[in-house]
Amino acid sequence: MLKDLFMGLSQNQFLNHAAKKYGLKMGAQSVVAGTNIPEVIKSIKELNAQGISCTVDNLGEFIFNEEEATAAKEQILKVIEAIHQNQANAHISIKPTQVGLDIDYTFCLNNIREIVEKASLNDMFVNLDMEDFKHLELTFQLLDDLSMEYNNIGTVIQAYFHKAMDFLEKYKNYRLRLVKGAYKESEEIAYQDKKDIDANFIKLIEWHLLNGKFTSIATHDHRIIDYVKEFVKSHNIPNDQFEFQMLYGFRKELQQQLAWEGYNFCTYVPFGHDWYGYFMRRLAERPQNLNLVAKQVFNKKTNTIIGVAAGAFLLGRMTKSNKKKRK
Ligand SMILES: Cc1cc2nc3c(=O)[nH]c(=O)nc-3n(C[C@H](O)[C@H](O)[C@H](O)COP(=O)(O)OP(=O)(O)OC[C@H]3O[C@@H](n4cnc5c(N)ncnc54)[C@H](O)[C@@H]3O)c2cc1C
Repeated sequence: MLKDLFMGLSQNQFLNHAAKKYGLKMGAQSVVAGTNIPEVIKSIKELNAQGISCTVDNLGEFIFNEEEATAAKEQILKVIEAIHQNQANAHISIKPTQVGLDIDYTFCLNNIREIVEKASLNDMFVNLDMEDFKHLELTFQLLDDLSMEYNNIGTVIQAYFHKAMDFLEKYKNYRLRLVKGAYKESEEIAYQDKKDIDANFIKLIEWHLLNGKFTSIATHDHRIIDYVKEFVKSHNIPNDQFEFQMLYGFRKELQQQLAWEGYNFCTYVPFGHDWYGYFMRRLAERPQNLNLVAKQVFNKKTNTIIGVAAGAFLLGRMTKSNKKKRK
């Protein structure tokens, strides 16, 4: 129920726009590394000093007009420049919908091409984040098209999809991030049960470590991390074949410990004003994350926003189910 609530809230455009107005005062600053480029560079440098590399995400959701998508692209180009200027150890993660995938495929492709080109000139990798199923095929298409010109790109495989192994086999020669999957997908296409998702996740990790290019294992799940540590040891997989990734602000001690133990570690560093959808998805996957940010988040204003939204969401659900009953 809570998962559905936060997933519902993550897609609420009205709340998304409303939340932007409050900046990071609502407490998202513990999981979002600032609103502007100097702030994010400072956060990256702090992580670099601990032996941690970064992948930077200029946050953005619900972009349906060319102006905003172009502005997002320009901002990402500036981030690449700033990473280079500051000699920071970081690369880029992009959500294709932020740079126009919901507007027009070619427009989006051209935007990402500019980003990949600039990154390539700076010897920097670009990851295409994987969003919901609706965008999956086109995201793979972007990868196919761009890889005819560039080799500094990769994407994400989400273990909750029944077909994840097929995707992995097809894209095994790319640097891939493997994740459990963050969006709400139907049971026709995706496992719903945590046990099934975890089992598939492990299967994918093992397969890519043995057969694929560089693997980024992106999880906060210590059981899976411990399993991977044993697996690489018993299969003599060198540390330069893989890395662990976690999100900024989560399990900071474990992040530092893994880097300290000599594993490649990369923190996913989101920044910008458009933090709302990202933040709600984090709450959806683990409502306990509320504890992490509770003190800062739940001031009066936030309580009001989330309270009103939760009420509206639940009312919507009740109305729907009453309608169904009436039918
Ligand atoms: C770097 C990165 C990039 C990602 N990119 C994408 C993407 O492109 N597309 C996409 O769909 N999804 C992405 N995700 C999200 C991912 O799909 C999962 O939704 C998310 O990581 C939650 O799953 P989990 O593997 O971390 O473990 P979960 O299944 O959430 O948790 C498993 C267990 O780990 C422990 N645990 C988890 N979190 C914590 C915590 N904060 N503190 C203490 N213990 C904890 C608990 O014991 C929990 O039961 C990304 C995740 C990461 C880390």
